[in-house]
Amino acid sequence: MQARHALSRCVAGMLLIGAAGIAAAEFPMQAQEVAPGIHAVVTPVRDFPTPENRGWNSNTVFVVTNAGVLQFDTGSSRAIGAGLREVVAGVTDRPVRWVVNSHAHGDHWLGNGAFAGEGVDFIATQVVRDIIANDGAEWVRRFANLTDGATGESAVVVPNVVVGEHERRDLGGVAVEFIGVGRSHSPGDMVAWLPESRVLLAADVVYSDRLPAVFDADIRHWIETLNRLEALEPLVVVPGHGEVSDVASIRLTREFLERLWGVVEEGQADGKTDFEILPEVRERLADFRERYPDFDRNIGAAVSHAYLQVERAAFGG
Ligand SMILES: [Zn+2]
Repeated sequence: MQARHALSRCVAGMLLIGAAGIAAAEFPMQAQEVAPGIHAVVTPVRDFPTPENRGWNSNTVFVVTNAGVLQFDTGSSRAIGAGLREVVAGVTDRPVRWVVNSHAHGDHWLGNGAFAGEGVDFIATQVVRDIIANDGAEWVRRFANLTDGATGESAVVVPNVVVGEHERRDLGGVAVEFIGVGRSHSPGDMVAWLPESRVLLAADVVYSDRLPAVFDADIRHWIETLNRLEALEPLVVVPGHGEVSDVASIRLTREFLERLWGVVEEGQADGKTDFEILPEVRERLADFRERYPDFDRNIGAAVSHAYLQVERAAFGG
């Protein structure tokens, strides 16, 4: 029998972190059932990976089907992946059969090693598969540096199943649409749409209450993608960062990107540098401070990255 709870509280126990076993820590992970059989594990962290959060800064989702479990993203380390596995085991005794890597940023796939095993497929777009294959070791190092070693020597598990722009699969009686949305938040982004329950697993294409990271983005294409996703009319949206939300978070992300682009474009047309545009962005986008607790910390970097993209666009890029 499959255990289902409206809000399953499964705290992953003490986990050993780090190759040298330097630290033991607890990730207070809980499964939150957002629709029948669909569970989000939401981190309270609204930041990049740090020694304090030990890399647990991104959300994941698992879907219980008749034939096994679909795990959507795996966190920033093998230890985090192991914690997520425990949360799944607290809800169902069915095995994890499919693992999705939404994109190639390390906070979404470095936990793959905890799920690897016979009969488990790792699913991603071709672009993401290639980045993990080529730059995977670099992502492991980068996250270990960011967290003072807390994310350890996570294994690089390269996806073995590549999905295209739009693929519908029946997984254990649950319809899942894998939608490759191109470089929106980052190269090779993919979201998963569960049309029967109208739940969108959006990963970092949608942020609910953290400032969207644009350093690897194509902001203009991202805005188009958000229009497409809004047209799906989802009832529930699980973002890669922030609380579970609905279509409002799609609109909020789009509004932020549109207004950021607008102010930066205007400033650049007036011959200003990104440094000169920043105070104006702080003022004209001040209302986002309420929604994004990291606004003051991260808006400067967002303006610099947006500036480069506006510049490229001006040259037809
Ligand atoms: Zn992320």
